[in-house]
Amino acid sequence: MTENHPVKPRAGHTNLDPHLDRYAARTAGMTASEIRALFAVASRPEVVSLAGGMPNLAALPLNSLSTQVSEIITEEGLVALQYGSAHGIPTLRDQICEIMALEGISAHPDDIVVTVGSQMGLDMVTRIFCDPGDVVIAEGPSYVGALGSFTAYQAKVIHVAMDEHGLVPETLREALAQAKKNKLRVKFLYTIPNFHNPAGVTLAVERRAEILEICREYGILVVEDNPYGLLGFNGQVYPALRSTDPDNVVYLGSFSKTFASGLRVGWVLAPHAVREKLVLAAESATLCPPTLNQIIVSRYLSTHDWKGQIKNFQENYRERRDAILNALDNYMPPGCSWTKPDGGFYVWMTMPEGVDTKAMLPRAVTARVAYASGTGFYADGFGSRQLRLSYCYPTPERITEGVRRLASVLEAEMDL
Ligand code: PMP
Repeated sequence: MTENHPVKPRAGHTNLDPHLDRYAARTAGMTASEIRALFAVASRPEVVSLAGGMPNLAALPLNSLSTQVSEIITEEGLVALQYGSAHGIPTLRDQICEIMALEGISAHPDDIVVTVGSQMGLDMVTRIFCDPGDVVIAEGPSYVGALGSFTAYQAKVIHVAMDEHGLVPETLREALAQAKKNKLRVKFLYTIPNFHNPAGVTLAVERRAEILEICREYGILVVEDNPYGLLGFNGQVYPALRSTDPDNVVYLGSFSKTFASGLRVGWVLAPHAVREKLVLAAESATLCPPTLNQIIVSRYLSTHDWKGQIKNFQENYRERRDAILNALDNYMPPGCSWTKPDGGFYVWMTMPEGVDTKAMLPRAVTARVAYASGTGFYADGFGSRQLRLSYCYPTPERITEGVRRLASVLEAEMDL
């Protein structure tokens, strides 16, 4: 603060910022995620990072991709380097329909909007549905990036519980009944049914119809976020919520985990009327998704064995999941519990009473292991005894060493 700017800092802002009195009120809730704040330390080579959820891209066929990108520029560079439609290129939208058919979805390519990763889909969906004060129901814990979008649009999040079979329908019903009683405007249920980030659990198939039915009964939309759906370790693919209730589910998909996260190509499949609004939202945000990247994804899908590549990813992540579960069994002190994912990237741990995972984190980093502490995955401050371990990126040997280090930090913590 200088003499020229005698303004009081609002919550979430530092008093060193001379623009303080100019920001929109909604920026007050925008704080750096705990995970981002950790990135710099966690990426030091001596630290085993079980914190970030970076896909392991080592198995991608880089040489043939490189040839292909060069061919794209040579053959259709004037299209690939040009603006395109906000909707996304038609060939890619057709291919996306084929991919979603694996989960039982029957969709028209016109109802798909290609996005800059599914993160942009989350932003757009929240933008078109949520006014300040509206409520989003989300599993507790939930995906940090989604919570960030909800906060950015000043929506309030009410969490509903999960068990090892995913979202518990009864808690959803109770939350909606309570919200109705309190006259809250609930806009949608945000859910990650498969290989949940961060919980590592999958919604039981028997629960799916019930959840859809409850949402219909209370007149709220379902936003199904499914970036990990094809990463089941036994090749299992679950029926999408969207496959049974196309008129009431907005589905978010992504190539980040099944191909390449840096290309930033994802999509939203929405009921027709909603699709119209999404295209307008996309236009005002980015004009159009990157044409070159869409063509890269589209050519990859039509010329490479992408299903074989996904199998390869599954095997890679399964090996790492086995390493982390074995290490947790071998090293963790009594009193800890954790989920046992059968796909995806994450294990969710609950520590013994009295352990604060956020406070413990600096000591863990000193011991050369990093994780994501639990509170970042809740909108309401819960999760201090929880943490997320990502096993997707380090080698199995490093994962084992990381868990061994974490166990000794925890033992020291419990002795305090
Ligand atoms: N949803 C979930 C549940 C995620 O885990 C992620 C990425 N970690 C995203 C959405 C965003 O993915 P992207 O923008 O890369 O498609």
